[in-house]
Order: sequence, then C-alpha cells, then structure tokens
Amino acid sequence: MPDHDFDLFVIGGGSGGVRAARIAAGHGATVMVAEEYRVGGTCVIRGCVPKKLLVYASRFSYEFEDAAGYGWTVPEPTFDWKTLIANKDREIARLEAAYTTTLERAKVAIVKSRAVMEDAHTVRLVATGEKLRAKNILLATGAAPHLGSEIAGLEHVISSNEAFDLEELPKRILIQGGGYIAVEFAGIFNGLGSEVTLVYRGENILRGFDDDVREHLRSEMERRGVKIVTRQTVESVEKVEHGFCVVLSDRQAFTVDRVMFATGRRPNISGLGLETAGVTLAKNGGIAVDAFSQTLVPHIHAIGDVTNRVNLTPVAIREGHAFADTVFGSKPTPIDHIDVPTAVFSEPEVGVVGLTEAQACARLAKVDIYKSSFRPLKTTLAGRDTRAFFKLVVDGETDRVVGCHIVGPDAGEMIQLVGIAVKMKATKADFDAVMAVHPTASEELVTMREKALSHVRQAAE
Ligand SMILES: Cc1cc2nc3c(=O)[nH]c(=O)nc-3n(C[C@H](O)[C@H](O)[C@H](O)COP(=O)(O)OP(=O)(O)OC[C@H]3O[C@@H](n4cnc5c(N)ncnc54)[C@H](O)[C@@H]3O)c2cc1C
Repeated sequence: MPDHDFDLFVIGGGSGGVRAARIAAGHGATVMVAEEYRVGGTCVIRGCVPKKLLVYASRFSYEFEDAAGYGWTVPEPTFDWKTLIANKDREIARLEAAYTTTLERAKVAIVKSRAVMEDAHTVRLVATGEKLRAKNILLATGAAPHLGSEIAGLEHVISSNEAFDLEELPKRILIQGGGYIAVEFAGIFNGLGSEVTLVYRGENILRGFDDDVREHLRSEMERRGVKIVTRQTVESVEKVEHGFCVVLSDRQAFTVDRVMFATGRRPNISGLGLETAGVTLAKNGGIAVDAFSQTLVPHIHAIGDVTNRVNLTPVAIREGHAFADTVFGSKPTPIDHIDVPTAVFSEPEVGVVGLTEAQACARLAKVDIYKSSFRPLKTTLAGRDTRAFFKLVVDGETDRVVGCHIVGPDAGEMIQLVGIAVKMKATKADFDAVMAVHPTASEELVTMREKALSHVRQAAE
C-alpha cells in the first residue's frame, strides 16, 4: 500500500495551480487541487478577465463621442452598471465551469476547501479536517490585496476584489495607488462616467515603468478628466451623509461615493504551515524558490504570485507547466523571467517589453533612444486631442533593441508581437528592414530613423 494518497497535492486552483495539475495528471500523476474560493483564481474571477471586460465597457464612451466626426448621429447614450456586472458574472461563471471541466477531464480531483500543510508531506483540508498524504506539494496560493497601514476609517475602503461587484457605479470615486491596477480602475470608472481622483504617494504613477511612459500616460489620463494627485497619501476616511470624506496628508479633503485602495498585493502565505514544512521565504516576501520553482524542501514547489517573482498570469501558467514537466515529465524546465512583455489596460493602453531607458543606461555602455509621439489617424476626424507614444531603447554597441514602450490604442496587442522580436534579440537594423504596414500606428516601430538621444557612459578614470 502506498504511503501517500496523491502523487501531487496542489494548494490553490488559480492560473498556475490549474495548469500544473492538468499537465502533471497528463504525465500520469495522481493529483488533487484544493481551492478555497472559486476555481480559476484571481485572473479569471477577480483579475485580468473581469477587468478587461470592464475596460471594454468603459471605452464605448469614447467611441460614441468620436462617432459624430465620422457622420454618425448617436442618441444620448445611457449606461447601466447592473447589466454590465450581471453579464460579467455570467461570463466568469462560464469560465469557472470550463476550468473545472478541464481538470475533471484530466482526472484531477478537486476539493473546495482551504488547505494547509501539517508537515512536509501532509495537507489538512480545513473544511472537513481530513488529512491527506502527498508525495509532492505545490503551493500556488497567489496573492491578495494589501491596504497598507492602519488609518482611521480603513473599514470603509474597498480593494479591487470588491470593485468588481459594487451595487452601483459610484458617481465619484477616489483611488489610492499608482500601480497598474490603480490606473486601470481609474480608466474604467472615468470612461463609465464617474468623477475619478487618483492619489499616489510617489512622484508619478506607474513606478518601475519608463519615465516617458509614466509622463505620457499621466498627461493623457488628465486630458480625459482623471484628477491625479501625487506626493500625497490618504490619512483618513470618514463616513458622511452623502458618501465618504477623505483627507489627504496635505489636508486636502474630498467627498466621494467610494474609496478604493490599490496599494499592492501580498503573497498568500499566512497560516499555510510553511514553517512546519520547512519552507522559507525570500527577501521579496514570497516563497523562496530556484529556477525550477523548487523550495528548500525538494518535494515542495511554489509557483505564481505566492513567489512574488513576476506577478502575471502567463508567468504563473508557464511556471506551473514547467514544474509539471520537470517533476513528472522527466523534462527539467527552468523558467526564464527575462523580457516578459506586459500591458497596462489603462486609457490609453500601455505595452512594454525589456529595459526602460534608465535600466539600459545603468547596464550598457552606450544607449540609443528612438521615440515618436503623434496623433493617431482615427482621432483626426473625431477631433479628439490625444497622442500615441512609441519608444525603442537600443544597445548602442550591438544595435540590439533592448526595450520597447508603447502608449496608445492596442498597445497590448502590439507589444505581444514586438516581444517576439526582442526575445529573438532583433537589432534596430532588423526592425528597419521590415516594410511598414500603412496606415497603422505600429508602422512607427519600423520607421523611426532619427535618434532622439544617445547616452554614452564615460569610462572610469
Ligand atoms: C485586478 C487585477 C488585474 C490583473 N490583471 C492582470 C492582467 O491584465 N494580466 C496579467 O497577466 N495579470 C493580471 N493580474 C495578475 C494575475 O491575476 C495573477 O498574476 C495570477 O492570477 C497569478 O496566478 P496564481 O496561480 O499565482 O494565483 P491566483 O490566480 O491568485 O490563484 C491562487 C488561488 O489559490 C487560492 N488559495 C489561496 N490560499 C489557499 C489555501 N490555503 N487553500 C486553498 N486555496 C487557496 C485562492 O483562492 C486562489 O484562487 C491581475 C490581478 C488583479 C488583482
């Protein structure tokens, strides 16, 4: 009789856990997945997918406005939040069912319960108290919103989790945060007609992104009516007769209908039994793993947001797949986290891959910058005052394109394709050799001939 119930026990049925379970089962492993909330995890239930649906909804307002310049007469559009949320919920339920079916077809056992480790081979299901033995354990518990330090009235503040299920569209909303989730929700609510104030403690939104992107996005968001307040934090939130009174560190006060914090996410590690199993944490607060997602305990692995490496769905999926191939498929597969393309579904959209100008200057002896800002053709007849932005960061010694940064319509779609070229180590000459597709915005990528500037690092004395 085997001394374990499963070859693999996966804690967390999100993007990474579901992929790992399915692939491991395909390699012949007996697998159980425990999910404490809903199968599909953050991305499907309260992350990427519902977010993008809300982004689509919010952008119709610009389409209706722009239509007049193209000869259309559009009756005064009206928007119904409840319809949007009900339709979004239906789609999420469909996806959750599809994920469940995929797992069932792969013969993966699913248990709807919180699971914690009792020791390095034993998992306890909190719902029933049942204890199960597993040869291998995969920690794929993701991350959760972190609202920051305690302030007066924090109980009135919502996170992105609740923003997806509000009863009503707030007429006025204050969002604290400057990361991608904050700017995306600012765009969503602004496009749907809310009055939006974005408060961020730093100098500018989207810390870690290229400075030109940050500047360009900020001015475009402001142009669309988002009020952006930087170098301030929310000090208190008080319930008042018609909403909430929010006071900032400079004593500015705002009365709004909703207060949302998008102030970061923390790995879900609390109470997981890491210590009892001998699993350690890394400096970034996530579970410490090597390139194969293996923890210090050889048969316990961790993938996705709980490791706090690159917190994106495709990365969690790739890590889950690589784990299953490594451990159950006799195909050791390390994960490469370099040059991961990514998008911010703000309004306008951002797409980036590779190094920022500042990162390139810190690493390379010579850096050439190409950039272009222009009014997209579609907006001309509409009379919309907006500009798109393209930037290439090039290694001046090898001519390799080491970074690409786009702000404008479809930036997310474009950056996926540029990502292939950057990953293949394409040079600026390779880009230039490609014929333009005209008239498009992306033709800018192959027609930027003039360097905007060149950085040359002075040799040390
Ligand atoms: C608002 C928002 C928008 C986002 N937009 C994008 C985007 O556009 N593109 C993108 O690539 N990424 C996006 N992300 C990030 C993306 O959702 C995550 O990177 C991805 O979901 C990580 O996958 P994961 O498998 O590591 O964790 P998750 O998908 O979070 O799954 C973890 C699962 O584990 C469960 N769980 C936790 N603890 C336990 C336990 N002890 N027992 C049982 N179950 C447990 C949780 O309920 C959850 O379902 C977004 C995130 C948010 C919040």
